[in-house]
Amino acid sequence: MPLTHDSVLAALKTVQDPELFKDIVTLNMVKDVKICNDQVRVQVELTTPACPLRETIQRDIQAALRKVDGVAGVEVKFSANVRGVNTRQNLLPGVKNVIAVGAGKGGVGKSTLAVGIAAGLALQGARVGLLDGDVYGPSIPTMTGLGTRPPAIDGENIIPFSIGSPDNPIRVMSIGFIVPKEKALIWRGPMVHGVIRQFLEQVQWGELDYLVVDLPPGTGDVSLTLAQSIPLTGAVIVATPQEVALRDARRAVRMFQQLGVAILGVVENMSGFVCEHGVLYDIFGRGGAQAMAREMDLPFLGALPIDMRICRSSDAGEPFAAVSGEAPGAEKFIAIVRNLAGQISIRNLTRPPAQALKIDVTE
Ligand code: ADP
Repeated sequence: MPLTHDSVLAALKTVQDPELFKDIVTLNMVKDVKICNDQVRVQVELTTPACPLRETIQRDIQAALRKVDGVAGVEVKFSANVRGVNTRQNLLPGVKNVIAVGAGKGGVGKSTLAVGIAAGLALQGARVGLLDGDVYGPSIPTMTGLGTRPPAIDGENIIPFSIGSPDNPIRVMSIGFIVPKEKALIWRGPMVHGVIRQFLEQVQWGELDYLVVDLPPGTGDVSLTLAQSIPLTGAVIVATPQEVALRDARRAVRMFQQLGVAILGVVENMSGFVCEHGVLYDIFGRGGAQAMAREMDLPFLGALPIDMRICRSSDAGEPFAAVSGEAPGAEKFIAIVRNLAGQISIRNLTRPPAQALKIDVTE
């Protein structure tokens, strides 16, 4: 029997996306099928360039097609088109996904994770922005190596800074570029609301797959303003394994849920300590945040140990150092980034689009 387009499609219909439990044809991921004698070439569109399941999908397609009579060779080509929850009408028309990175308390590594997630997504090929929403204690100017200097202005608009590859730069904005850190500390609710709105409305973010927002620790005005102003794709919660930190993390989870913001997952930071020789020691314990995620029925995105190389790279303003391929321990960071990208895709494909929270705040 000659090899036909229909027999190839029927075989592809048996390949499931392992996270969405639907087949890749129904999910509209198969963009092209070419048959040349006994060779089949399949073009598959992933929902993120940082897809954690790329290898699994590739293996399953190969296995399914090799069972079809007349197939001798299979080539799978991937492209990516990030889906988003944002609509074209909102404040950020070019931004497909806004991801908030929050924590119950300060000092748990929330900014470190926000920077690493932005850098990791960009390294995987996504178009990324990084907004420092921590107006009370902005760390992004230091962690990105940009320091304090005013951004360029174009009429009414603010031009964000760019870091990383000139071909795919990360756009960065922080209150720390404009106001010295000591002054930012005394900001009050309505001013915070104003500055966050301004960062959403007036910064020229351009076309982005992901805008990562580093929130202040705890629960408060910035999260509320964000949730009211734009449809957030969801929030990532960073926690350390100790019980006190977890108690605050649970509170942060509940606040997001009350605001109608999906929790994309939990990251455990400072999970044990890795010495210079790569040996892991238990200091504050490990696994607490993972247990919390399980107990609250939330995705667990992964764990990072205390590693002096992570601390040094953020102090030195080298945002890519902890996540780039050759860095020791980078695979843990990249696994977190890919798991997060996977959760964002799941959220966008399976749930109704997020809406900006509608509440009237009287000040
Ligand atoms: P937060 O944003 O929660 O206040 P930061 O990201 O600013 O926390 O981290 C606080 C300090 O801890 C920073 O100096 C940072 O470099 C360091 N740090 C964070 N995570 C790690 C880690 N996994 N290993 C080593 N140092 C870390």
